[in-house]
Amino acid sequence: MTAAQTHEHETAHAAGPRSGDAAGAVLTIDLGAIAANWRTLADLAGPAECAAVVKANAYGLGVEYVAPALWAEGARTFFVAHLQEAQKLRRLLPQANIYALNGLLPGMAPAFAADMLRPVLGSLPEITEWGTHCRSVGEDLPAAVHVDTGMHRLGLSLHEAAEIASTRHELGFTPSLVMSHLACADTPDHPLTARQQARFADIARLFDGVPASLANSAGTLMGADYHFNLVRPGILLYGGGAIEGRPALRPAVRLAARIIQTCHASAGETVGYGAMERLERDSRLAVVHIGYADGFLRAAGSTDVRKGAEAIVAGQRCPLVGRISMDLATLDITDLPENTLERGMEAEFLGAGISVDELATKAGTIGYEVLTSLGPRYERHYLAP
Ligand SMILES: *Cc1c(COP(=O)(O)O)cnc(C)c1O
Repeated sequence: MTAAQTHEHETAHAAGPRSGDAAGAVLTIDLGAIAANWRTLADLAGPAECAAVVKANAYGLGVEYVAPALWAEGARTFFVAHLQEAQKLRRLLPQANIYALNGLLPGMAPAFAADMLRPVLGSLPEITEWGTHCRSVGEDLPAAVHVDTGMHRLGLSLHEAAEIASTRHELGFTPSLVMSHLACADTPDHPLTARQQARFADIARLFDGVPASLANSAGTLMGADYHFNLVRPGILLYGGGAIEGRPALRPAVRLAARIIQTCHASAGETVGYGAMERLERDSRLAVVHIGYADGFLRAAGSTDVRKGAEAIVAGQRCPLVGRISMDLATLDITDLPENTLERGMEAEFLGAGISVDELATKAGTIGYEVLTSLGPRYERHYLAP
């Protein structure tokens, strides 16, 4: 963290003086990159509206910073998962359209209405409950209707959706959005994707006059047939990839941990808990201030049979060696020129040189899990847009 970046953070958010030295690892979140990624997608999706999905604390990056940055860039419609997330977002964005994707649990309608929050209604009982609430207060309150076009998670069946469409003037409210969700859009040419698009187009026609939305990030990249009236990107905003083999947009996070000590170990010795990785040559090792308690996934560690994640130290890639422990991880720095490395130097695990998706692949998971696992122990710095 340079002094200039720290200063930007302080002026942007009045967080007061902070020192990157006290924390083991520093997570730098580039709000300008997130805003630019939203702009890229908004331009791509136009004339459809580009919403922003900020569930799970804006994919782990801090909704209290990310949502206002997106609003300032022009986003007006936001999606979260839970009522609690929606309530928090309402305090941040008094004017936004806020949808809660997971819908309505029994008795929650008054809480949604009190904060002008919009449930995404995915079953007949939810639709009935929202309609009953609207009638009881005498107001037509907006809510989305979610239709299952083949994912079999949330949503009305096609049959139920057709019935709701034909009786929609008796529901007690006017749907403000009809939506569905793609199950396989991250896999190019998966046959389910086109089938879902065709089914959704039929449903959207039945809800004539109601804005329609199908596309997540991957769908947003798939062209106008998938855009309908509103797109709902998440992962692409945050620097993750959406479709296998297609590049991500601008990286939005940098994760760097400090080197605590270096040491030598001989060929044949093992490193870390469980002695899972044996050194094939005399090696230099660097122990860094990051572990699974930070949310740095233990599955990204290295063994003799499965190599782990890498970090960039002094401009060069260095592999992890051995297991990741709770608070520490070890890098093989043998290939760095002697004397390039000082105690306290940074090892970069995510950033311009190492993408969220690369780390995810090394940990056997997806970029979404890498981001949403980023824990509270990292010192967080926000770069103002
Ligand atoms: C999470 C989510 C999105 C955003 O998905 P990305 O793949 O992150 O773009 C969109 N729609 C729904 C229903 C979701 O649950």
